Amino acid sequence: MGYKELVLNLPPACREDDIRQAISDKLGFHEFSFHILKKSFDARKKQDLHWRIQVGVDSSRLRGPSPALAPVLSIPYKKGRGRVVVVGCGPAGFFSALVLQKAGYEVTLIERGTAVRDRASRIARFEQTGVFDPLGNYAFGEGGAGTFSDGKLTSRTKHITKEKNFVLSCYMEAGAPEEIGYLAHPHLGSDHLKTIVSTLTGQFRALGGVVLFETLLDDLVVRDGRVCAVSTSRGVLDADQVIVAPGHSAYDTYRMLIRRGVPFRLKNFALGSRVEHPQELINTAQWGRARLPGVKAAEYRLTSPGDGTLPVYTFCMCPGGMVVPATATAHTNIVNGMSLYARGGGYANAGCVVGVNIQNLLQREVTPLEALDWLESLEQSFHEQAGGFRAPACGIREFIEGRSKNTALTSSYPLGLKPADLWTLLPTPVSRALRAGLNDFSRTIRGFEDGVILGLESKTSSPIQMVRDETGHCAGFENLAVVGEGSGYAGGIVSSAVDGIKYALSILGD
Ligand SMILES: Cc1cc2nc3c(=O)[nH]c(=O)nc-3n(C[C@H](O)[C@H](O)[C@H](O)COP(=O)(O)OP(=O)(O)OC[C@H]3O[C@@H](n4cnc5c(N)ncnc54)[C@H](O)[C@@H]3O)c2cc1C
Repeated sequence: MGYKELVLNLPPACREDDIRQAISDKLGFHEFSFHILKKSFDARKKQDLHWRIQVGVDSSRLRGPSPALAPVLSIPYKKGRGRVVVVGCGPAGFFSALVLQKAGYEVTLIERGTAVRDRASRIARFEQTGVFDPLGNYAFGEGGAGTFSDGKLTSRTKHITKEKNFVLSCYMEAGAPEEIGYLAHPHLGSDHLKTIVSTLTGQFRALGGVVLFETLLDDLVVRDGRVCAVSTSRGVLDADQVIVAPGHSAYDTYRMLIRRGVPFRLKNFALGSRVEHPQELINTAQWGRARLPGVKAAEYRLTSPGDGTLPVYTFCMCPGGMVVPATATAHTNIVNGMSLYARGGGYANAGCVVGVNIQNLLQREVTPLEALDWLESLEQSFHEQAGGFRAPACGIREFIEGRSKNTALTSSYPLGLKPADLWTLLPTPVSRALRAGLNDFSRTIRGFEDGVILGLESKTSSPIQMVRDETGHCAGFENLAVVGEGSGYAGGIVSSAVDGIKYALSILGD
């Protein structure tokens, strides 16, 4: 059996038969099998929209050697390695727990929120009543922050092939479509994610892992630089290793860690709002037509130098999605975006944020604790301004011009909009840069300025970073780590999962 790789350019609505036909046209024979290696949509020229598909073809009529197998993560098993408590059932906590359970540890995974099915009902109730539920919301609960999301699986982190392949293969075994293994911009959608995370939890339990929902880590029991137990809302759990993967919305957990002497430092992060447009406006701008059979919905990713002092970029674009209330407490108001696998909704939204350094922004020295306090008080000010969870909003054109015009605002946001001079609610340097960025984006995407800008987007990444020693532990602790987005070393589903896996592998010591 021989092997050959081919690159095919095929029309948007192409199907598997068309791929087969294109291969046989290139090879001149029909006796082969093939698999897709990479698939991306090329929308650079509106007159020539096409899929670029790289395939691997096997046939007895070919001569080339088969490629080397993709690198596989190896998890060495040893019986009775000890007890681990992992805190947080998001991607970082879950995948570190899974690796350690497979390696022979006895792992208990605790999660302050509820299991995903119950969480979904609590979120639905929040969106109907406006009454926030601390046990089940967009930030907390089984699967972590990304469960009710667009489920984009892209990551810009380098040198993570084995760990990333492990994550993707776990998702596929739990029901994700195989295309996540080859699409340039793979995504799962909230509908797939809900099933996938509960299937994964079931697999972890089947390996002997213990999962405790509605269990809050409230303290660490530390003796001579070792954490010997964790104190939780359900009692004390002894541990040989403790991994905390709390995401970056759990201010109470951050404060407890800082109080216990876990060292953190400041890092740059981003602040801004979300922009939203009719999806057809984005499709037309990107493709020259409102719909394109074979392609779900047009995407964009935009960057701008802003006002020359702070950069502006779009982040976490959700084609055909919804803007959602992503707060983790009853007194803060922030937004984020999600979509279903079909990306069939009528709106496109994206974070539109400004890269900031908090000390430059506030023009003074700031401790990590003060950075958290400042960010939380900004999130609270949005809650106060809106009188709850409506999203303060205005037209993008109004924001650019800095003038209220009572523009009619339409949005997918389920809790309603509160018309506001949004530029006055954000820190002045952020508004100034955002205004310049929005202006630039309106030159790139026709009709961009006709969209809506809403809410506070403050969760692109953590404003603080845990100080790690060379082994990955929290500096000053022998057996404690903070991993994932809350550590300040990762952001996004895949990179957080990989951060958890890398730490788990590092403590195996085989
Ligand atoms: C609405 C939304 C959409 C998103 N869309 C995407 C996307 O499309 N693609 C992408 O890559 N990323 C997306 N993200 C970001 C992504 O979800 C996060 O980067 C990722 O989930 C971080 O993983 P993590 O495991 O580090 O933390 P998290 O997923 O935040 O998980 C932390 C978990 O720890 C729990 N926890 C916190 N404190 C405690 C405690 N004291 N005791 C017990 N449990 C605790 C929390 O309840 C939570 O479940 C989105 C986020 C949101 C909110």
